[in-house]
Amino acid sequence: MKAAVCREFNKPLQIEDITIAQPQEGEVRVKLAACAICHSDITYMDGGWGGTLPLVLGHEAAGVVVETGTGVRNIQVGDHVLVTLIRSCGHCADCENGEPFICSTFFPIDVDSRLTSEKGEKVGQGLHTGAFAEEVVVDQSQLVTLPKDFPLDAASLLSCGVITGLGAVVNTAEVEYGSSVVVIGCGGVGLNAVQGAALVNAAPIIALDLVEEKLPAAGEFGREEGLVQAF
Ligand SMILES: [Zn+2]
Ligand SMILES: [Zn+2]
Repeated sequence: MKAAVCREFNKPLQIEDITIAQPQEGEVRVKLAACAICHSDITYMDGGWGGTLPLVLGHEAAGVVVETGTGVRNIQVGDHVLVTLIRSCGHCADCENGEPFICSTFFPIDVDSRLTSEKGEKVGQGLHTGAFAEEVVVDQSQLVTLPKDFPLDAASLLSCGVITGLGAVVNTAEVEYGSSVVVIGCGGVGLNAVQGAALVNAAPIIALDLVEEKLPAAGEFGREEGLVQAF
């Protein structure tokens, strides 16, 4: 399959033919239809987090299941799915404590990527995923099934930007009905924070950004005309 490989920080990704291994126990292979570009990928590509190269980034994706490993439950070939970077075992102390996003269980994929270059070298799966590619193999817990009539390009945004922005409002800040909210920055995450604030009926919602062109979108994410004041 083709994948966009990061071989050197601060350099353009290279399109290469990569071999993807069969899914092992609990893993699923997904043919991707779309992958959004998250700023975390760009920070990684720029060397902001260091790490070992080569690597395939991309972690905000959606596609169709083409193969399942042994022990996979609730996911079948043909299912339309979101692919996220969040894995959870469901039974470690963190998962039991209601915090599956910091699951402390070891996943085999972390040390043994399912990707190999044409020269036979291992290519890492950035942010546990590696979705700047035609296919991924990930743990079953990284998938969420979707209705088959849901457009996969729009769905891919649910894998990171939407849940990050909405989660900041609903889970982290626990914004209550009628609270006033200021969202600083109206990119993919910020717009979804605006949307989250509108969903919990915060008012007023003030959206700030240095880039004028982003402000009309912030108004639209407020659901009702005039709810969001964008500056
Ligand atoms: Zn992201
Ligand atoms: Zn866990």
